[in-house]
Amino acid sequence: MKYIYGPVKSRRLGMSLGISLTPHKICSLDCVYCQLGKTSVLTSRRKEYIKIVDILEEIKLWLENNCGDARKLQFVTLSGAGEPSLNIGIGKLISGIKKLTGLSVAVITNASLLSNERLRKDLLAADLIVPSLDAVSQGIFEKIDRPVKGIRAKDIVNGLIKLRKEFPGKIWLEVMIVKGINDSLEEIRKIKAAADKIGPDLIQINSPVRTTTEKNVFSVSKETLKKIKEIFGDKAKII
Ligand code: SF4
Repeated sequence: MKYIYGPVKSRRLGMSLGISLTPHKICSLDCVYCQLGKTSVLTSRRKEYIKIVDILEEIKLWLENNCGDARKLQFVTLSGAGEPSLNIGIGKLISGIKKLTGLSVAVITNASLLSNERLRKDLLAADLIVPSLDAVSQGIFEKIDRPVKGIRAKDIVNGLIKLRKEFPGKIWLEVMIVKGINDSLEEIRKIKAAADKIGPDLIQINSPVRTTTEKNVFSVSKETLKKIKEIFGDKAKII
């Protein structure tokens, strides 16, 4: 299988089948904590990196050959080894998966392109969107997420606010905290203020646990995570 991985069981989504919409590490960000290593193509250009018909064909084949596993699935998750929203056919893929499987579709995205109205429309057919928001100050955003030129943190926040207004499904906002980069009280309060404006259903707070290819990327302590969770309030969860 070229575009399908799993099924994987996770605490968040239960049993889910993962789909990659781009070749390895084509991304609009190059996050210091990325578990997939360095971004090979840093771009914000949306195009059909992998043909949607080919992905749907592979899903069809997988379903035919894995009836038992297919019955246990709770989600099909668009994520993979790059940023899924870079694939301009994502809307067509979501509708195609729903037609083929009848399952809920989750999209895990770095949110960097959400100021694009066409993309937000493409995502409307999904059931769950898990966007990231690691920083609100441009300098800190550039330090932790190392975006391609032209991506601004304030546009991401505005894109997320618009998405919340337009999207009828669930939004779980994910915030990755890296020690010494975005863990200051000042930045956490700014992210919290942005989250209040966005209004996600859930806020998932995380800190890198596995080794990345980068040196000097450290997680914050459990105590710090608990304090951050308190600042974010009732909707927040440490994952
Ligand atoms: S957005 Fe995701 S895939 Fe892209 S660099 Fe960051 S963690 Fe890695």
